[in-house]
Amino acid sequence: MSEPFLVMLDRDGTINVDKHYLADPAGLDLLPGAVDGLVKLRDAGAVLCIVTNQSGIGRGYFDRTTADSINDALVEMLKPHGITFAHIALCPHAPDEVCECRKPAPGMALECAQATGLALADSWVIGDKASDVGLANNTGGRGILISGETDIQAGQVFTAPSLSEAADYILQARAS
Ligand SMILES: [Mg+2]
Ligand SMILES: [Zn+2]
Repeated sequence: MSEPFLVMLDRDGTINVDKHYLADPAGLDLLPGAVDGLVKLRDAGAVLCIVTNQSGIGRGYFDRTTADSINDALVEMLKPHGITFAHIALCPHAPDEVCECRKPAPGMALECAQATGLALADSWVIGDKASDVGLANNTGGRGILISGETDIQAGQVFTAPSLSEAADYILQARAS
């Protein structure tokens, strides 16, 4: 049994297709490689958490109940694959609210570390935005960008086309 370690995942554009301020669970579509990547991480001992900026709440596009219903739908969608999340952290704030939790601010990573009892120094953040990599950089973890972009940010160790390749990279890094 491998040692548990913390993997924090962005939601929109990382696990599911980014529909920009998704406000309807019916619009939830998993990205190619998402289930495959999450299964590989789970089997390697990763404790999975979601860290999601949902400024659509702060901007008044949808309410917290709607955002939670989308998270619930995602959880239900992944359950048949044996994928579960130890914690789902959500920032409901608009950028101008200047909170402690909107990525790349460290709040949601601290929340996940507290919820799981796992070390941020041995953690990973996977996301499709510079702010996801920034969260890793701000909390001592390693960031993987799911993107076609190749410019490397501080804290970024790899650029992956999907969660599947991100998982391969993490497994290889931990084995060596
Ligand atoms: Mg995203
Ligand atoms: Zn916030």
